[in-house]
Amino acid sequence: MSRSIRLLIPLLAAFSVVLAACGSDDDSTDAGDTETTASGDTDTTASGDTDTTASGDSETTDSSADGSDGAAAPAGGTLKVGTKYDQPLFGVNEPDGVVGFDADIARYIAGELGMEVEFQEAVSANREPFLENGTVDMVVATYTINDERDEIVDFAGPYYVAGQDIMVVAGNPKGITGIESLNSGDIATCSVEGSTSLDNLNEMAPDADVTTFDAYTKCADAMGQGRVDAVTTDNVILLGLAAESDGAYELVENPFTEEPYGIGVPEGSELRCQINVILQTMYDDGTWAQIYQDTVGAVASETPDPPALNNEGC
Ligand code: GLU
Repeated sequence: MSRSIRLLIPLLAAFSVVLAACGSDDDSTDAGDTETTASGDTDTTASGDTDTTASGDSETTDSSADGSDGAAAPAGGTLKVGTKYDQPLFGVNEPDGVVGFDADIARYIAGELGMEVEFQEAVSANREPFLENGTVDMVVATYTINDERDEIVDFAGPYYVAGQDIMVVAGNPKGITGIESLNSGDIATCSVEGSTSLDNLNEMAPDADVTTFDAYTKCADAMGQGRVDAVTTDNVILLGLAAESDGAYELVENPFTEEPYGIGVPEGSELRCQINVILQTMYDDGTWAQIYQDTVGAVASETPDPPALNNEGC
C-alpha cells in the first residue's frame, strides 16, 4: 500500500462518519413546528367564527395494539392524527373523545402500529400543510385522493368512496335537481375552502353564486338562517348534517363526482404501505365493515364493499 493511500484511509473513514450524521434526516426535530397556514380563514359571509387553526385542541387516547398484521410498523410512541371535529358520522369531538368512521379507522391503525393516537382538529384547507410541517403524522379526514394533492403528500387507501351531492332545505323549495341547477347564478351555494367540493363546484358550475366557510357545519348553519339555498360536498358528509337537522334538510341525491378517501401521510413516508397492510387486514377480517356499520351505518342502510387499495410502490 502506498503511503498516500495509507494516509487516505483514516480520512475517508472520518468523512463517511460525517456523511452518515448528515444523512439521518430526522423529521422529529421539526415536529414542534405547529404553524398552520391556510387554516380556514375563509369565512366570506361574516359568521365571524373561524377559529380552525386547530392548535392545542387535541385528544389523546390510549389505543392498545391488538394483534399483529405483519407490517413492519414502528412500535410505541404517539401517532398524531388530523381529523375533522364537526362532521357527523366521520369525526365529531365529543366529551369522551372523537367519534366517527375516520376517528375509529385512525384509532385502529394506531393500535395496530402499537402507538397511542393523538387527535388534532383539521379543516379541509390545512390538511396538506399539517402533513408538510409535521403538525400531524397522518390525516384521516374525508380526504379525497387527487393528483394535485398527491404531488404534495402521499395517500394510503382508498378506504371509502363518496360522491359529491347537494343538500337543500326540506321540500327543496328552489327545485334544485343537480349541479346544473347551481349554475343558474340565483341559487346561493355554500361549500368549504380547500375542498375538492369547492373545486368541483367552480369547475362544473362556473356561474354559481358561491359562499365559502372553513367547515360544512357553518354552511349548514347558514342555510338554516336563509343565507344560502344549497350546500355541496360529499354525500356522506351531507347525510350526517341532514340527520342532525331534525328533518330541516334533505339531499338532492344526484351525486356528480367520485371522491375516493385516502389516509394522508407525509410525502415518502413508510407509513403509507404499512397503513395499506392494516387496511387490507381490516377489510378481510370484517373490522372495516363493523366500523362502517357502527358509524355511517346509523344513516346508511347498506354496507358497501371497501374499495381496492392502491399498493403501487409498496
Ligand atoms: N372529500 C372532499 C375533500 O377532500 C370534501 C370533503 C372535505 O372537505 O373534507 O376535499
